[in-house]
Amino acid sequence: MINRPQISVIAPVYNEIQSLPELVHRVQTVLDQIGMSWELLLVDDGSTDGSTELILRLATENQHIRPVIFARNFGHQLAVTAGLDYSHGNAVIIMDADLQDPPEVIKDLIEKWKEGYEVVYAVRTEREGESWFKLATASLFYRLIYRITDVKIPLDSGDFRLLDRSVVEVLKQMRERHRFLRGMSVWVGFKQTGVPYRRAARFAGKTKYPFRKMFKFAFDAITSFSYLPLQIATYLGFVSAGISILAIPVVVLLRQSGSQAFFGQATTLIAVLFLGGVQLISLGILGEYIGRIYDEAKGRPLYIVRYPINQENGQKQKEV
Ligand code: UDP
Ligand code: MG
Repeated sequence: MINRPQISVIAPVYNEIQSLPELVHRVQTVLDQIGMSWELLLVDDGSTDGSTELILRLATENQHIRPVIFARNFGHQLAVTAGLDYSHGNAVIIMDADLQDPPEVIKDLIEKWKEGYEVVYAVRTEREGESWFKLATASLFYRLIYRITDVKIPLDSGDFRLLDRSVVEVLKQMRERHRFLRGMSVWVGFKQTGVPYRRAARFAGKTKYPFRKMFKFAFDAITSFSYLPLQIATYLGFVSAGISILAIPVVVLLRQSGSQAFFGQATTLIAVLFLGGVQLISLGILGEYIGRIYDEAKGRPLYIVRYPINQENGQKQKEV
């Protein structure tokens, strides 16, 4: 029999051994104050620093903690997805394990939920302890996504949010591999609202999102919600075809009037290189989309869980 708590908190964990005890302590304090039943799902995304063992130990000491241990690193978004899959709460809260999303904000999220909102996202009004580069790229990213996609993702809101069970059930049916959860949770509709908060600095350790991962994440976000990159190739095609058609009479006239403009190899070379470049970029963009279709076509599981084993089916759990 599954005990259905009122609130599930999901935290994806990737090498956060130093933050975990503090995270558990603060979440516990806040939720005990609120006085609702709760569970904390710690999804270990293939940690190598001993976080896995710590999570399993914390779970034996604290009955609120439910560990989900991945077989390897699958990435932040999939760790959160697993959390959603394994959660039982009537409201589910997603937050980072590094305490950048202060657990105290959970109170505000739950208050809005009680007012009847089904998605309550936390909007960061300030961010502490982050490099100017991260701030600038993040700000640019949110504004770009807002401009080019059809889903109006609220500016400066991350994955820190509360989702009602009805929304979680819809999200659980969306099994796309390259996922941008904050876009997906807007796409589903429902009654949504925001709550402002100050994003704290990391409690300990370094960011697990180096530039390479950030770039991939941005690309996943764009490709899952927009065809604009594909359309850009079409626009470029029309523009360069248009320019060349206009250029023909111009060059003929110039030649007849004895001008030496656009004469010689350099002009040809530049035109060929330019078009070659545009074509390769277009092919690359096409490739990105096709690669994603290929990934979906393979239909592999989104993530592999090492522990708990088939807990949902009531089968025996692996011994800790
Ligand atoms: N994370 C994860 N898998 C990864 C990278 C990160 O589960 O491959 C977790 C990480 O432990 C943290 C959250 O995702 O709880 C956000 O990551 P991070 O704090 O490094 O990102 P930032 O806040 O710097 O954008
Ligand atoms: Mg962080």
